[in-house]
Amino acid sequence: MRLRTVFLLAAGLASAALGQTNSTSFNLATQNALRACTLLQNSLGSDIVQFSGAEYLAGAENAWSLFNTENRPPCIVFPRNATHVQVAMAAIFHNKIRYAVQAGGHSAMTGWNTVADGILIFFSHMQNVTYDAVSDTITLQPGIHWGDALQQLSPLGVAPLGGRLGDIGTGLLLGGGLSYLAGEFGFSSNSYVELDVVLVTGQLVTANATNQYADLFRALKGGANRFGIVTRYKVQAVHVGTESDKNFFGGLIMYPNSSSEALINATANYVQTVNDTKASILMAFTNTLNGTEIVGSHILTLFYHGSSLPPSIFGEFLSIPSTFSEIGPVSYIDANSILGSGATRGFGQLFGASAFKGGAVAQYTNAFSAWTQYTQTIKSAVFGTVLAFTPIIDAQTLAGQANGGNLMDPPRGNYAAVQIQSQMTMGVLTLPAFVQTARTKLFSQIPRSPGLPLYINECDAGQDVFATYGRFAELRQTYAKYDPLRFNVRFTQGPIGL
Ligand SMILES: Cc1cc2nc3c(=O)[nH]c(=O)nc-3n(C[C@H](O)[C@H](O)[C@H](O)COP(=O)(O)OP(=O)(O)OC[C@H]3O[C@@H](n4cnc5c(N)ncnc54)[C@H](O)[C@@H]3O)c2cc1C
Repeated sequence: MRLRTVFLLAAGLASAALGQTNSTSFNLATQNALRACTLLQNSLGSDIVQFSGAEYLAGAENAWSLFNTENRPPCIVFPRNATHVQVAMAAIFHNKIRYAVQAGGHSAMTGWNTVADGILIFFSHMQNVTYDAVSDTITLQPGIHWGDALQQLSPLGVAPLGGRLGDIGTGLLLGGGLSYLAGEFGFSSNSYVELDVVLVTGQLVTANATNQYADLFRALKGGANRFGIVTRYKVQAVHVGTESDKNFFGGLIMYPNSSSEALINATANYVQTVNDTKASILMAFTNTLNGTEIVGSHILTLFYHGSSLPPSIFGEFLSIPSTFSEIGPVSYIDANSILGSGATRGFGQLFGASAFKGGAVAQYTNAFSAWTQYTQTIKSAVFGTVLAFTPIIDAQTLAGQANGGNLMDPPRGNYAAVQIQSQMTMGVLTLPAFVQTARTKLFSQIPRSPGLPLYINECDAGQDVFATYGRFAELRQTYAKYDPLRFNVRFTQGPIGL
């Protein structure tokens, strides 16, 4: 059961286009895209612009959510450098072609990293990571996955702020980014030093906190895919130690369903009271289907950047009856591997977000009941569901503000990012209507606490996340400045509301 639960959590030219298995018609948009693809291939070459073949297929089918693997774009661009992205984006812009960008592929929002009748830009050939000791910065190309970045930098004792599972990619930064170091350093994107960004027109700009593109720089900390294509991330290095330095203490505890009430209380208390920057938890309640039976089993990952788990912070969780526990001194890489890599494919995936202040236990209990009922309602269609809480402590918000802030701009005080994950039955490609109805009902039952921003990387595509940002007006203004023709919102899928 442990494996099953962790698994859930982590869990040529015209003929190519005509051969699409799911396309409804060979429409005008596809014809235009094919023309642009042919021109692009002539200028960039057939390694970079592909219409078919093994690499094309691997790119088209790479996405983590099965719902995002069905499209067969007329061509896929595999850039080796920013210039290739510029050339592709300029062609897309001038020819009014639909498009999508894919880095790690882990978006659970259908259509956000894939396209049927347009051009996919896929970063599998841009995976370099380097450390500069003089400036103490790390430079990441957009195609690297966090696990690879950590592995390559580990001998140097440094790491970028990323996520908590190895297979996830750099798209995480554009949505904010929650790591086991967030309490100390803020959202992962608050570690930006400099970004190279290809704007919708194909123009390449370098943005940092003080130059003429400082507004763009801020917007890319939570603005997701709406503000341009990032081709280089330069971020502050964090000195976490090497793989043999066990600078963290913690691990994973699994609990039976009978412990759920105590866990809900402990989670609400943690969110309300803990403000120690070195502490972090991810509390994930999981329901998996065993035949027609729903099995509840709950996972806590808990870490302290130090040599033990302070009882005043973790005591309540440690006293709750558990079924499995693996706790001890660990390296930063160990911590990021504790839930597996998250690479497993083959399931349609959906997310949904809420955000709760600490302390109001009833809000947490209500969410648990609503989620339990939700799983019951949709059990014939799912492998399992998750209700997860990531505390975002006041110190995390302050650390972010000290480093230039972001447009999510949470209010002062602790809160929890709440995530609902729904993993469909393996291989199922269409979302049954009754599941969508149940999801809509669930989201209405677990509204965010007033004033809190939703976390865009874990939202449902229908949620108006930008409107929940503290500096939404500034986000809109910045968008209007960099994309006055609204090309991005008209020609690629992504967050709504700009
Ligand atoms: C198993 C799992 C575990 C997760 N754990 C965490 C976690 O610990 N912390 C956390 O914060 N989040 C976590 N997430 C959520 C994660 O942050 C998002 O799914 C994120 O969008 C993934 O980025 P990606 O590059 O892998 O995905 P992609 O789908 O490739 O990209 C995500 C979005 O960003 C866009 N994009 C990607 N690269 C670029 C670029 N260079 N320029 C412009 N747009 C771009 C894509 O078009 C897409 O819309 C997790 C998700 C999963 C599935």
